[in-house]
Amino acid sequence: MTNLIDIKGVRHAYRTKAGPLPVLDGLDVAVPEGEFCAVVGPSGCGKSTLTRLIAGLMVPDAGEVWLHGERVTGPRKTVGMAFQNPVLLEWRTILDNVILPLEIVAPRMPRADREARAMTLLKMVGLDGFEGKRPSELSGGMRQRASLCRAIVHKPDVLIMDEPFGALDNFTREDLWQTMRDLRAAEPFTCVLITHDLRESVFLGDQVVVLSGRPARTQAVLNVDLPADRTLDILYEPKAQEMLHYLRDQIRVAQGRDGH
Ligand code: ADP
Ligand code: MG
Repeated sequence: MTNLIDIKGVRHAYRTKAGPLPVLDGLDVAVPEGEFCAVVGPSGCGKSTLTRLIAGLMVPDAGEVWLHGERVTGPRKTVGMAFQNPVLLEWRTILDNVILPLEIVAPRMPRADREARAMTLLKMVGLDGFEGKRPSELSGGMRQRASLCRAIVHKPDVLIMDEPFGALDNFTREDLWQTMRDLRAAEPFTCVLITHDLRESVFLGDQVVVLSGRPARTQAVLNVDLPADRTLDILYEPKAQEMLHYLRDQIRVAQGRDGH
C-alpha cells in the first residue's frame, strides 16, 4: 500500500539574522490513506514547521515530501488546515464561513449544493440551528467545531491540525475528540494532528510520532492498536495506560531529561 503522506529524511534550517537555525534533522513520517497520525514533541522542536511542509507552504533544504504520490513543491488546495485559534470571518454567518473553501475550490458548484454539504457537516458536529449566527455569538468549542467543518468541507486529501484543541477547557476538548472520531467514521479522511496532549494523541491516533528536541528527528513511532470504535473509557484501560507511559518516557528523552 502506498502512503498518502511520505516524508523522508527531511532536513531544514531557517535563515535568521543570527545565522542558520536547524529545525529539522532527519524527519521521517509515513501516513497511509485514511489514517490518523498524531505528532507530539517538545515545544519549539519543529512541529508547526512540519505542517507547513505538508501544506507545501515551504520546501525543505533536503529530503522529500510526498503527497498522494506527488512531490510537494508548492501550496495545494487539497489540504485542509485547522489551528488553535479558529480563523472565522466575523462578517459571515457560520454557514457562509463553512462554505468559503467551496467558493474557492468549486466555484461552479450551485449555492444549494454548497449549503447542503455545509449543513451535513454542521449537523454532524451538533451545530445545526447555529448556521445563521456570527462567530462571536458562539462559544470557543462551537467555533472550533465550525472551523473543523470548514477545513473538510471541500473533501481535502488531508486535514492538518496544529494544536486545534489547545485553548479549550478539558471537558470541551474531550467532546471535540469524540466529534472528531464521529466525523472520521462518516468521512474517513487522512489526518495529521499536532498536539501536546498525550491522551489526545492516543485517543485520536492510529499512530503517534514522537519528535526529538530541536533540531527534530523522528524519535519514535507508536502504533495505537486500540479498537476503532473507542470511547473515552478506553484511556483508563491497561493497554492505553501502557502507551501513555511509553509516550511520557519518550517525551522525557526528547526534552533531554531522561536521567542519563
Ligand atoms: P513547534 O511548533 O514545535 O513549537 P516551530 O516549527 O514553530 O516549533 O518552530 C521551530 C523553531 O523554529 C522555533 O525555535 C522557532 O522559533 C523557529 N522558527 C519558526 N518559524 C521560523 C521562521 N519563519 N524563521 C525563523 N525561525 C523560525
Ligand atoms: Mg507550533
